[in-house]
Amino acid sequence: MSDFDVIIVGGGIAGASLGAEIAAKRRTLIIEAEDHCGYHSTGRSAAFYLESYGGPEVARLSTASGDFLSEGGFLRTRGDLHIARDDLPELPSAVETRIVERAELEQWIPGIRPEWRRALFEPGCADIDVASLHATYLNRFRRDGGQLRTDARLHRANRRKRDWLVVLEDGSEIIGETIVNAAGAWADSVAEACSAAPLGVSPKRRTMVQLRVGRSGLRDLPLVDDAKGTFYFKGEGDRTVWLSPHDEIASDPCDAAPEEIDVATAIDRFEQVVDWPVERVERSWAGLRSFAPDRLPVYGFDAHAPGFFWCAGQGGFGIQTSPAAAKLAAALLLGEPPAAMVAAIDPEIFSPKRFSR
Ligand SMILES: Cc1cc2nc3c(=O)[nH]c(=O)nc-3n(C[C@H](O)[C@H](O)[C@H](O)COP(=O)(O)OP(=O)(O)OC[C@H]3O[C@@H](n4cnc5c(N)ncnc54)[C@H](O)[C@@H]3O)c2cc1C
Repeated sequence: MSDFDVIIVGGGIAGASLGAEIAAKRRTLIIEAEDHCGYHSTGRSAAFYLESYGGPEVARLSTASGDFLSEGGFLRTRGDLHIARDDLPELPSAVETRIVERAELEQWIPGIRPEWRRALFEPGCADIDVASLHATYLNRFRRDGGQLRTDARLHRANRRKRDWLVVLEDGSEIIGETIVNAAGAWADSVAEACSAAPLGVSPKRRTMVQLRVGRSGLRDLPLVDDAKGTFYFKGEGDRTVWLSPHDEIASDPCDAAPEEIDVATAIDRFEQVVDWPVERVERSWAGLRSFAPDRLPVYGFDAHAPGFFWCAGQGGFGIQTSPAAAKLAAALLLGEPPAAMVAAIDPEIFSPKRFSR
């Protein structure tokens, strides 16, 4: 007799949201390697909801998640200005946008340098209260009977006839029928530890800087990014912004830390956008965004390893897509029809089997 029906590896937003969807129906355990959930990518995001982000298939997951996030009080609308020197970006057609010409742009961003001629404004962009969303999922998971073990790193797992014998790093053993791989940057390593073939889920480092500048009134500044994808920043405090050089540097799975060169690049690009004096870096951090080879997330049972379910490759959109992604993954895991939120989305697009076709 197994200890659990489902053992979810990883207590970030992916594992927590899927756990919340299934805990009432299956005996579920989340094992998290760190001493608390959310230490890695989930706790390091830029925390925005941007419907146009990640291409049309990801946009469908984001759009499907919008009502849940908004009705739950997790969003605070900010808007996004995709600024351009020349051509405006092409965004998925379903996303609401309007063109902003230079005169209006100057009102939104006083001090913007003259070469930025126009922008595409995306009004639906919002901040996500990530900590609250993550805690809400974990609370629901526990309320519905789910169990969580922190300081519990999966070391290896052996598939037996009908179940898995999971061995943790401290030597303790747990038996579960299904393993869910929600290990973020470690997704391929966890697959290998379970003798499943890795899919090529690659972690990429992204740097964030909290910058204090000689200008006030910035708190509600829209998210500002360039059509070519080389930086973004958004208002944080009255005189601070969160800024990223939009870096994407290949990394091993690790406790990511910012490099000085990436912080300097971020500031250099920021100074090419606005004439605001840079006063100091208040803090900087980095996290890993993990992508499958086609940059789409992976939800579903492995093509070859029985009882091994993927919930990985959430790239830079894992928070904003989590409500719909968790519903979609739960339906696949439980073998149930999809919930209304994701009924119009074809799960095949996200299946791990696409890599073995
Ligand atoms: C700088 C930055 C900005 C971002 N901005 C946004 C944004 O604005 N909006 C958005 O939607 N997304 C954003 N993202 C992406 C988002 O943060 C991720 O897609 C999401 O957090 C991934 O969640 P996860 O649960 O898969 O990974 P994680 O949060 O990393 O969780 C995986 C967990 O698995 C655990 N684990 C690993 N191996 C094992 C093991 N062997 N045993 C047990 N546990 C294990 C780890 O300890 C970790 O806690 C950003 C990411 C970064 C880095």
